[in-house]
Amino acid sequence: MKLKTFKIGGVHPHDNKLTAEKTTIAAPLPEKAYFLLSQHIGVPAKAVVKRGDKVKVGTLLAEAGGFVSAPIYSSVSGTVAKIDTVADASGYLRPAIIVDVEGDEWEENIDRSSKLEKLEDHPELTAEEIIQRVKNAGITGMGGAGFPTFIKLTPPPTAKAECVVINGVECEPYITADYRLMMEHTDEIMEGIKILMKAVNVSKAYIGIEANKQKAIDLFEMKAYIYPNIKIVGLKKRYPQGGEKQLVDACIRRQVPAPPAIPVDVGAIVQNVATVHAVYQAVMKNKPLLERYTTVTGKDIAEPKNYLVRIGTPISTLLEDCGGVPDKDVKILSGGPMMGRALASLETPVCKGTNAITVLSGAEAYREEETVCIRCGKCVSACPMGLEPYLLSALSEQIKPNLDRLEKEDITSCISCGCCQFTCPAHRPLLDVISIGKNKVMGAIRARNVKK
Ligand code: SF4
Ligand code: SF4
Repeated sequence: MKLKTFKIGGVHPHDNKLTAEKTTIAAPLPEKAYFLLSQHIGVPAKAVVKRGDKVKVGTLLAEAGGFVSAPIYSSVSGTVAKIDTVADASGYLRPAIIVDVEGDEWEENIDRSSKLEKLEDHPELTAEEIIQRVKNAGITGMGGAGFPTFIKLTPPPTAKAECVVINGVECEPYITADYRLMMEHTDEIMEGIKILMKAVNVSKAYIGIEANKQKAIDLFEMKAYIYPNIKIVGLKKRYPQGGEKQLVDACIRRQVPAPPAIPVDVGAIVQNVATVHAVYQAVMKNKPLLERYTTVTGKDIAEPKNYLVRIGTPISTLLEDCGGVPDKDVKILSGGPMMGRALASLETPVCKGTNAITVLSGAEAYREEETVCIRCGKCVSACPMGLEPYLLSALSEQIKPNLDRLEKEDITSCISCGCCQFTCPAHRPLLDVISIGKNKVMGAIRARNVKK
């Protein structure tokens, strides 16, 4: 198989996939579960339960708060303790429904069997019905972006879907949750891809997997004999190949223009493998999004593991089960070392987009002192979006940044991959500074759109 990759930029961080061969296990149930009302891009969900209500696994806790929003279901059974605030992965206190866990009672209409349901055995599943079920199940992008999936399955009239591109890349170091899911639930993922193809009315799908997951490539290639319209695309190992634009470039050689363009503008509907699996479960098993695959890892963790974890489980519960927080200097991230966020609280719960908890050792987390930019251009070569990170950073750190200039320099195209910062020999905090500049520009764009 000839391996493909994307054209511009990218870096090669060390793999550190410590948990690659560890079979996924069910995470312990917490004593309390915390359901943040905002686990997705868009309007927060609205609580439909109150203190004292009894809930089961699969009971609706909060309905979508607007069009770009998603409902939230209980992943545990018990009693609603209160609606309060809890720190999210950014450290901000956000509204959440808190449930005291009692037993493990599931709603009866959820099919918990492992029987594989095939799309051809369900002629009642029209494209509209599939999209409605995905919407009702509260599925949002599980690769981290958190955009409601049903919206991606209903492209604007100006765009036409031609194929589905599945992200099985998992290019962040350390994380193996998607890899284990691919190894352990291959058939469900293949059926999930067929469901998506039917939903968006296309006859072609591609699944991109990096060469460091050769066993997954082999397994999917074997299955592809029974799914002739699904092509396995082996990819060279390169970060950030899991970015939508990089994946579309690598798999189908099409270039997604700068925002507001999205992959469907070049014919591609992109979904992560974990989202595909959730779609299969929602459509075929009537199972809303209430659990996910998450890796808990790090060189200082006694026993790193891959978990099937109930959404709402505090991160402390997972860390305790892995042997506890190491008794030395560490940095605990929600996500991987390239794009993850340092956690302010270990009571922050696992959300729909939490693919990993990574514990970096003091040495890994150590930041060298920054020095002046030596104009080496390494950040420009590494940027997969073709930006000039040294310039965006210099403009962003001005006391009164010129937002028009930043917009002209395409700061909104930045995908926060961190390649620039990773590669900078002067150890400049490029990603951190550019993110602040980008947030300011996005704010100005929103304000301008409101005035229109
Ligand atoms: S963080 Fe932004 S500017 Fe830096 S390399 Fe990634 S896309 Fe480019
Ligand atoms: S990599 Fe660092 S030192 Fe080199 S041009 Fe970019 S910001 Fe300057």
